[in-house]
Amino acid sequence: MITTSGCVNLCSKEPIITIEMVGKSSVKYGNLSDIFLGIQGEGLWVGKRQLFIRFSGCNLRCKFCDTKYAQTPSRECLFFGERLKNPINALWLKEKIKDINFHSISLTGGEPLLQIDFLKEFLVPKEYIVYLDTNGSLPFEFEKIKDLIDLVCMDIKLPSSTRQRPLWDEHKKFLIQAKDIFVKMVITEETEEDDFLYGVEVVNDISSKIPLVLQSSKKGLFDRLFYFQEKALKKLSDVRIVPQVHKVFGIK
Ligand code: SF4
Repeated sequence: MITTSGCVNLCSKEPIITIEMVGKSSVKYGNLSDIFLGIQGEGLWVGKRQLFIRFSGCNLRCKFCDTKYAQTPSRECLFFGERLKNPINALWLKEKIKDINFHSISLTGGEPLLQIDFLKEFLVPKEYIVYLDTNGSLPFEFEKIKDLIDLVCMDIKLPSSTRQRPLWDEHKKFLIQAKDIFVKMVITEETEEDDFLYGVEVVNDISSKIPLVLQSSKKGLFDRLFYFQEKALKKLSDVRIVPQVHKVFGIK
């Protein structure tokens, strides 16, 4: 909405962005679920203080998904606990976060790469350290912003875990393009060994040095992960078992 005072005021009481900053036709909006400060609970950057931007909408429906609320577009976005109406203006958000202290921005979802225009507007080269959490199914979208991302956490979606179609080709195309990337595989009671080993081969075909993080879908699967770790270490040099640390603290 353009206010009579000449400012864009999407959701807060105060005018934030001037028309000069925005340009009438260039404003990009995102359908977001949640924006909050926390610690990274998964993968190689566990414990880093991050500003999380959780995108609404996902092109997959993994059986083990623990963010089902973010699979579809949301009417509202929680911004540090305050309910705002979607969509959210990228430039407004940049302005709002500029004085917050964090190590990096975590783009998560849902699937952030479904909202590429918002990302292109929101991300500025070298302004922030940017961490992308992605399902690895949209390599051509990733190509458009890959130079703006510092570290990618790419899921390899094992069909026996997700109960979705295989995404091997998409994963390969994604891995080829990324410079700084690690791969995450979620292991469930239903994960089949052949599936897992094929996923390891997909990574190994690109580079045996790409770190692989194994994460369990629930408690009590350690022996299974430990077994899979041994198998993967025959091909890859860095295979870690990392639990979801944020759940220990009962946080998002
Ligand atoms: S890709 Fe992620 S957000 Fe989408 S359904 Fe799978 S686990 Fe959920």
